[in-house]
Amino acid sequence: PEDKTIILDSIRDIPDFPKPGIVFKDITTLLSNATAFKTLMDHLTERYLGYELDYIAGIDARGFIFGSVLADRLGIGFVPVRKKGKLPYTTVAEKYSLEYGFDEVEIHIDAFGENGCCTTGEPSKVLLIDDLMATGGTAKAAVNLIDKVGAHCVEACFIMELAFLNGKEGFSAPVYSVLEIE
Ligand code: 5GP
Repeated sequence: PEDKTIILDSIRDIPDFPKPGIVFKDITTLLSNATAFKTLMDHLTERYLGYELDYIAGIDARGFIFGSVLADRLGIGFVPVRKKGKLPYTTVAEKYSLEYGFDEVEIHIDAFGENGCCTTGEPSKVLLIDDLMATGGTAKAAVNLIDKVGAHCVEACFIMELAFLNGKEGFSAPVYSVLEIE
């Protein structure tokens, strides 16, 4: 609980961003706070050391920051899930709907090994990570991508979850959130 207070207190609320009526959770103040960032990364390292993961997949763009630090600490590879049009090699894409219109995320087809499998021939075990889950639409699309390339999403991890939006509903992987906002 003490650790979670340090992390929670380092995240800043920005009213009316990016639109009037939305309170944006700003994690840049967590990143610039060395004590809070280390406390968070220690917590995640302790949780995931026992999972026997093969890869961390981080969602564009803030998931890259937490995901790459965690991958390095666990001694495993990092895979970026990117917004459409950014990855140079052959990709698999997944669309997801927004309040107005849709967005699309992509992954390299061989990101988790050939057919998504590690050297033993088993599907690679992947932890998905992002800074925040709101509706869950982005993360669900990312889980679908991991499935599509033949790997296995062991868990989806978020620093913060806006629990009142019920993003966890209909999620095909277990969800772990460090902080849940009611
Ligand atoms: P969802 O698809 O769950 O509705 O939205 C989650 C995505 O939008 C994540 O990639 C997350 O980074 C971003 N996002 C939405 N709202 C916020 C917010 O208040 N703070 C931060 N840091 N990211 C947000």
